[in-house]
Amino acid sequence: MDLGIRGRKAIVCASSKGLGRGCAMALAEAGVDLVLNARGADALAATANDIEAATGVSVIPVAADITTPEGRAAVLDAAGAVDILVTNAGGPPPGMWTDWSREDFIKALDANMLAPIAMMQATLPGMIERGWGRVVNITSQSVRAPISALGLSNAARSGLTGFVAGTARQVAPHGVNINNLLPGIHATDRAISLDTGVAKAKGISLEEAKAERCATIPARRYGTPEEFGATCAFMCSVHAGFMIGQNVMLDGGANNISI
Ligand code: NAP
Repeated sequence: MDLGIRGRKAIVCASSKGLGRGCAMALAEAGVDLVLNARGADALAATANDIEAATGVSVIPVAADITTPEGRAAVLDAAGAVDILVTNAGGPPPGMWTDWSREDFIKALDANMLAPIAMMQATLPGMIERGWGRVVNITSQSVRAPISALGLSNAARSGLTGFVAGTARQVAPHGVNINNLLPGIHATDRAISLDTGVAKAKGISLEEAKAERCATIPARRYGTPEEFGATCAFMCSVHAGFMIGQNVMLDGGANNISI
């Protein structure tokens, strides 16, 4: 399927690895020029080279922390006018409700709520002016089915989801579509780190922890960054023009939620 976005330009935040990289690769395969971002310059440069070599689109890597105003300014300056924004950042650590101080909450809110909101506030006016735009926020299955140990993530991502629910409807009349993409467990470094936490807590091996978590997923496996990226690219395509303010869950059936 031709996604109808060849020649468009996208910012994909936090995209040297994992789900962000999957989204970047899929958009590049659809002919979208990219501005990529991550803090670590080496992995980011390697990803930019891989994507450019595989697809021939233009890829500008910006090594910066997307959770800071300076980092966002560097990414936005490098990009100029953009048609597509994919927001993303690292996820907060797991823990108990008693573990977290105000500072921990501020950090989580900065990364998983306020940074995506700031990126939308910076890019939406141009999209509205040009009469076309797509935003996909990478959030989490925890928005619809909160995960007990991920209180910081549950809290911050719920805030972002609330903001998007209103904003998506305010910008839709201008041809700009905002939606959220909710990963269940995917095979990335983040999944390995969560598996390691489960293994430690239960005194089992990493393989056993992974097998236990796979058994809770009807698809009996983790999702892949490629599947996730393909869904993101579709949500950025001309074909998703009637999709507004949705929370699209990719979880292999793990959450038995009927609506
Ligand atoms: P990942 O494999 O650890 O990759 C994270 C990417 O984000 C890396 O490129 C990392 O590069 C970059 N990054 C992290 N913090 C950043 C920052 N402050 N500024 C700029 N770049 C940053 O993680 P993932 O699995 O793709 O997860 C992506 C998001 O989805 C996370 O918020 C995660 O919590 C959420 N999620 C993941 C899963 C899953 O199963 N994988 C499930 C639900 C939700 P640098 O470290 O070099 O900056």
